[in-house]
Amino acid sequence: MTPSSKKLLVMGWDAADWGIIDALMAKGGMPNLRSIIAKGVRCPLKTLEPRLSPLLWSTVATGKGPDMHGILNFVEPKPDCSGIRVVQSTTRKTKALWNIFSQNHLRTHVVGWYASHPAEPINGVIVSNLLHEKVDLTQTDPHAEKLLPGTVHPAELNDIIESLIVHQHELRPEHIQQWLPRYREVPTSDDHLIKGLTQKLSYAMSVAQIGEWLLQHQDWDVSMLFFDAIDTMGHEFMSFRAPKMKHVSDKQFSLFSGVMDAVYAWHDDILGRLLSHVHDDTAIVILSDHGFHHGNNRPVTQHLSPEKRMEMEASWHRNYGIWVASGPNLQVTESAVAMSLLDVAPTLLAICGLPAGKDMPGKVISEWFAEGQIPERVETWEHQAEKDGLHPADLQTDPLQQVATLKQLIDLGYLAALPKNSAEQIDLVERESRYNLAGFLSFSKKYDQAAELYELLWKKSAQILRYGVGWAQALLASGQTEEAELAASEVLKSHPTAVELILLLATCARSKRKTTDATRLVEQAERIVGQKSDHLANVAQAWLNLGEINRASDCCRKILIKPEDDPKWMVLLSKIYLAQGSFEAAADKALDALDVSQAIPEAHFVLGAALAWLGQIEDALTCLHFALNLEPQHIEARRFVEIIEHRSSPSEFPTIFDEYAAQNPYSSDAFLHHTTHRA
Ligand SMILES: [Zn+2]
Repeated sequence: MTPSSKKLLVMGWDAADWGIIDALMAKGGMPNLRSIIAKGVRCPLKTLEPRLSPLLWSTVATGKGPDMHGILNFVEPKPDCSGIRVVQSTTRKTKALWNIFSQNHLRTHVVGWYASHPAEPINGVIVSNLLHEKVDLTQTDPHAEKLLPGTVHPAELNDIIESLIVHQHELRPEHIQQWLPRYREVPTSDDHLIKGLTQKLSYAMSVAQIGEWLLQHQDWDVSMLFFDAIDTMGHEFMSFRAPKMKHVSDKQFSLFSGVMDAVYAWHDDILGRLLSHVHDDTAIVILSDHGFHHGNNRPVTQHLSPEKRMEMEASWHRNYGIWVASGPNLQVTESAVAMSLLDVAPTLLAICGLPAGKDMPGKVISEWFAEGQIPERVETWEHQAEKDGLHPADLQTDPLQQVATLKQLIDLGYLAALPKNSAEQIDLVERESRYNLAGFLSFSKKYDQAAELYELLWKKSAQILRYGVGWAQALLASGQTEEAELAASEVLKSHPTAVELILLLATCARSKRKTTDATRLVEQAERIVGQKSDHLANVAQAWLNLGEINRASDCCRKILIKPEDDPKWMVLLSKIYLAQGSFEAAADKALDALDVSQAIPEAHFVLGAALAWLGQIEDALTCLHFALNLEPQHIEARRFVEIIEHRSSPSEFPTIFDEYAAQNPYSSDAFLHHTTHRA
């Protein structure tokens, strides 16, 4: 019998970010989280694309990507096409952890998880994420509210759960002051901020109260509690945090700059309260689905139209979330681990002594377990099992499929046309859900499928540039250079200033060794971009790829607000330094990137290359092998290793590189070639 934790408590903190947590801990804050870290493990948790919370938390819960679990958006069309609704548990196509735990006789509680409505009939308690949606029974008494049917399983707990819910109108000043100490001074012009804050606070307090009650009063083996406030509050209040952003007034800054830190501190308090109800042998996991920009990289969206702003909201989300865990069968290790969101479910199963399915693409983080503690994988958990708590098959739906069927009936004249408004809504939701799916397919390198989907979207809505960009980029990534060029040219006809596509054409020209064309295209892109930061880094990267180190470096200099805390930016700079022969600076920048995450192969590679040039051959090899472990296809890293292993005298490197570059003028990044001439 595999030893495993007696109990597991999981807290989801949507959008929690190490940048803020580490700053708070350095000042003595977040004591409860600190106590878990002290006896457990911590690491950055790499997110998936697209960075949308319902998709990501469904991946956490299933161990599968959106292409397999089917949760593609915040909302979905109603089955009868009368409008849209919040995405439902019946749309999920695969089992969630709570189903797997339930069928393995682990009594499981789930509160507030994305896409958990209607609550599934598992062995345990589910309170769905629609716990604040209410059915108004009477118009006259605004306080007479009932839970939406399906919010609670088992239904006999309805009344007690309802009594634990904190309604907005029940909040007292001392509650609001937890997040906003000087809330009485807030001018009426900022009333909407207070309204948003009280709504999010009351929801968070409800989840906390319900979670705490369940831990105390209901037997359990696993509890999974989900808090969305760090994300939802972040979208409204992160721009007020220090350092002060330009568009924020002094008054607003003095009132609101502490809100986000207070929200984090509140989460730590709740963690402390929950910990007081669990035994020492309980495994504790705290995680987030992505991080959140909080420094110089915060997007400025205030001046944008509402639609554009909505599109931009996901750009607040940083690549790395948090993972903290402690438990009797988790061993602390010094070695760096690269963990992705797909690894969460297999690792949580292992903590409970259960095997992952072979159909889960992620891995168990084996560094944290003793020999023989990770159970052999089973084929799949998807077979029907007693007590898995899945909704009956006739409740399961595929909203996109249903819409297609209904539309066919309408086209055939069997059904009256949909009202214009809901028809437009449904059309938008349908398109964006497919766009999200295409984004994930690209991210998981299924470029052919992604290109097909993007093309479909582009042909349908040619006014939306990102569909066309996705199409051309997926074609290029799948190796179909000709098709990518054709697609890019088609899209550029209606969007002539699309920088992404001009740069894509430059890449195509470069791969065909048409350097003059490539140079002209990158120049064109640089002219269009002007001073706008968002594309300058891409232009710099394009210059770097062409071996134009000085132009790359000039381009970086033009960026007014440097994305200092973005590892992609650090890697770009480190590559420029490497190409310029500033090996120490290159190594420093690469190390900065590795500070953010150990899981960036390019950073390990640049560090390895820089160290090789500095004559630190042993360390260089270690770094290069790290890069290759993470990305076995990393051509430059492999070549560096070969070069070093075959002739290890640094004095020979310049000749070797020259020979090498002469033989392969375009097959590797041109900066490598340039590096040789610098030395
Ligand atoms: Zn999120």
